[in-house]
Amino acid sequence: MDGLDADVLDMMLQAIQEFADRHLPADLVLRLDHEDECPVELVRMMCGEDLGIHLLFVPEEYGGMGGGSFDVCRVCEKMAAIDLGVATSVLATALGSDPIAVGATEEQKKAWLGRLAEEGLLFAYGATEPEAGSDLAALKTTATPVEQDGRVVGYRLNGRKQWISNGGIADAYTILANTPGGPSWFVVERGAENFTQANPEDKHGIRLSNTAALYLDDVPVHLDALVGGAEGQGLLQAQQVFGYTRLMVAAFGLGAGWSALDRVIAYSTERIQAGGPLSEKQGYTHKLIVPHAARLEAARAYIEETAERIDAGEGSLNSEGAIAKYVATEAGNAAAEAAIQGHGGYGYTREYLVEKIKRDVRITTIYEGTSEIMEMTIARDRWQEHLKSRGRYFHDRADALEALDGAHPGIGAGTAALALHALAEVLEWCRTGRLTRQQHVLLRLGELIAEAECAEALCRRAARAADGALSPKADPRFDATALAVLARVFARDAAIHVAWGGLRLVRGAGGAEDARLPELEAALRLHDVAAAESGGIADMDAAADVIYGRSGGAS
Ligand SMILES: Cc1cc2nc3c(=O)[nH]c(=O)nc-3n(C[C@H](O)[C@H](O)[C@H](O)COP(=O)(O)OP(=O)(O)OC[C@H]3O[C@@H](n4cnc5c(N)ncnc54)[C@H](O)[C@@H]3O)c2cc1C
Repeated sequence: MDGLDADVLDMMLQAIQEFADRHLPADLVLRLDHEDECPVELVRMMCGEDLGIHLLFVPEEYGGMGGGSFDVCRVCEKMAAIDLGVATSVLATALGSDPIAVGATEEQKKAWLGRLAEEGLLFAYGATEPEAGSDLAALKTTATPVEQDGRVVGYRLNGRKQWISNGGIADAYTILANTPGGPSWFVVERGAENFTQANPEDKHGIRLSNTAALYLDDVPVHLDALVGGAEGQGLLQAQQVFGYTRLMVAAFGLGAGWSALDRVIAYSTERIQAGGPLSEKQGYTHKLIVPHAARLEAARAYIEETAERIDAGEGSLNSEGAIAKYVATEAGNAAAEAAIQGHGGYGYTREYLVEKIKRDVRITTIYEGTSEIMEMTIARDRWQEHLKSRGRYFHDRADALEALDGAHPGIGAGTAALALHALAEVLEWCRTGRLTRQQHVLLRLGELIAEAECAEALCRRAARAADGALSPKADPRFDATALAVLARVFARDAAIHVAWGGLRLVRGAGGAEDARLPELEAALRLHDVAAAESGGIADMDAAADVIYGRSGGAS
């Protein structure tokens, strides 16, 4: 899929910013947050003629713009930087219409996607239930067939949905329910008989987003409401878009994280303490700014790469979507936390917005699959790759990075390769010691895998930038030299975390008794990882110079 032209995407991003400047100034956002109010009219303007963001999610043949994953990610990042609650409302429409986009019959697509494009319908995505969150297989909502003359002519839906974004304001809802043939999606319109919506939840953050429970008390629907016209396709249809939808939430983490970091970067240039601006103090920048910028850019590299691959037709890339979501949302959350700290007491009050961003971005590690479920997904998938390749999977990727290091010295690829080699060894020690029977080991492996793969992606992005080969739609914030510095900073973190974290896991889980400890240390190349630390602080100095636009830093 080609998606939008780069200049059309640019125009759209600009239009969103201008809309926000005009209609969502900071004081209004703070007031709506304080009063816990969803600006429904503004959301409708964004998904209507005024801005038309919804058209991005609709293929051209149904009247939309047919945006690709890359386009959607850039728009999601921009929206999240403006307000994550409003962004969630728009996302919910995309999510809600996804089961239709992937699984509906041609007539259903024409009807619903056509209406979405033309009328700007707001959708909601109704999967979660009070007792079925991470474990959707525990679904209790039922769809009981209604028969006439021995033929199914419709269904009656019964159950309750929990935490549904746009729950109280949507025009149409996709509802996951158990039919005799298995979980299936149904489209239910607002106002359907016996279908009610609860009052909005009083939430920690994203208070500009409407979140509400849904009650289905014997709601009659026509046979046409069954998405795809066949029972039992629901979980498959949900899975078909996971890679893409998780990328959208990943872009939310990125946008919100950078929005917080940009605020604290600006603040620190003006705040004078101990005779100079905070931005000049290494103890401040190297803890509160630089590592977060590097981590967010590593996440961006992974998001962009995955989006490009989805757009190139490589499938739904669910594991990559999970890695992108996991790293970007945890990075966004950590960056917002650091932004509060970097503002000192002012960060703890509402005025500087970082306190609100922190509360908002917190949701991204929970919805669309929690971080722990992402860790499990990542670890299970890559574990299979490790087994299938007889332990070569990450060694091969490391070898490719070493080759990249030869062609592009100075982008940290050699250090990132150490992380990937160490990862391959940790997985192998876990295999021979049967350590992944312990769930903690499995989930921590997910974390190490995600970090190593993001380090790899950031090195590749730095190399592509040096070759002038980044997508014309790529974010232009950092040039090739700056990306090389950030890639080196992040690669060191990844190598240390994977090697020492892996050692800790294997040893902690009983996989390396005293006599074998030297063998494990050698396998993880701890000496090489330690040697790669050389120049680490100078690189952080250079990264701080790049971030603050100071001359003479990066090389
Ligand atoms: C503001 C908001 C908006 C939302 N919007 C929507 C929406 O539009 N549509 C929709 O369908 N849903 C929506 N959700 C629901 C959201 O996707 C779920 O909350 C999320 O998937 C987690 O499910 P849960 O809340 O039941 O937590 P649980 O699944 O009960 O998880 C609780 C904790 O246990 C951990 N955990 C769960 N299972 C395991 C396991 N097997 N091993 C180890 N740890 C585990 C989790 O990581 C988490 O830390 C929304 C939620 C919120 C708060």
